[in-house]
Amino acid sequence: MAYFGWHVSTSGSWANMPLVAHDANADTFAFFPRPPRGGSLRTLDMDDIDKLLQHLHDFHFGPLVAHAPYVYNLAAQAEGIRERSLNNMREDIDRLEIIAAKHPVYYNFHPGAHTGQGRHIGINKIIDALNDIIQPNQKTIVLLETMAGKGTEIGSNFDELEQIIDGVTHDDRIGICLDTCHTHDAGMSIATDFDSVLNELEAVCGPSRLCAIHLNDSKNTCGSKKDRHERLGHGTIGLEAIKQIVCNPRVSNLPFILETPNDFDGYAVEIELLHKMISGEPLEELQSFLMDKQVISA
Ligand code: FE
Ligand code: FE
Ligand code: ZN
Repeated sequence: MAYFGWHVSTSGSWANMPLVAHDANADTFAFFPRPPRGGSLRTLDMDDIDKLLQHLHDFHFGPLVAHAPYVYNLAAQAEGIRERSLNNMREDIDRLEIIAAKHPVYYNFHPGAHTGQGRHIGINKIIDALNDIIQPNQKTIVLLETMAGKGTEIGSNFDELEQIIDGVTHDDRIGICLDTCHTHDAGMSIATDFDSVLNELEAVCGPSRLCAIHLNDSKNTCGSKKDRHERLGHGTIGLEAIKQIVCNPRVSNLPFILETPNDFDGYAVEIELLHKMISGEPLEELQSFLMDKQVISA
């Protein structure tokens, strides 16, 4: 069974996240363990975490997908940035371990940008950092996100992701989060032949690396290296291809996280749309459902 959700806000409390998600019929969600632009962790509130765990259990949530702040760069040239990214990631994981002891948690991050040092140096820095960060007995699985390839980003093809995985000592604690907008913008055939993308991922990185999907349409063309997300069915990937992805049996047990430009009502509509896809509704009905709902919520 696939799980659907979106990025919920941590403001308020952690215990509130599954309640908000459940209100839109989500059964997974993503969240930032600390503010997306960095900053410090909130003070640990065990009562809040206990309630969070209770809600996850009561509402039968699937694995959660925590997202590392965007400012981290394990490949950074400036040692200060790299050091801070490394220390913060370790702190984030320590915090997530409290949840992961009772409920499956992924922690996905953008592999990094080499900022002109070159790919080889960048990849080696990421490997060294991950070998400092990942503990052999940790329960949280760290996910490398597939990137669009803008600027000097590392990780816009499976070869680079595999080079990183290959260098990590405890590689049973590492997986891949496939972002559909990013892989499309990176030039992969996600909009026309999802199976061939999965085939390549499995051939290069191994059969069981894919752990989560960021489900987004794209504002730009295949290979544009732009990374601008679009609402489902409104972009260059399109509703038909999204349906093929969501209904593909090879990803049918994964958490799907929406990172589309939406508010709460918009996410609730997209989650309903995804459930309709799973139950086999034809494309024309999905299109008219989307049109009706989005006229109302617009
Ligand atoms: Fe991301
Ligand atoms: Fe993403
Ligand atoms: Zn993106």
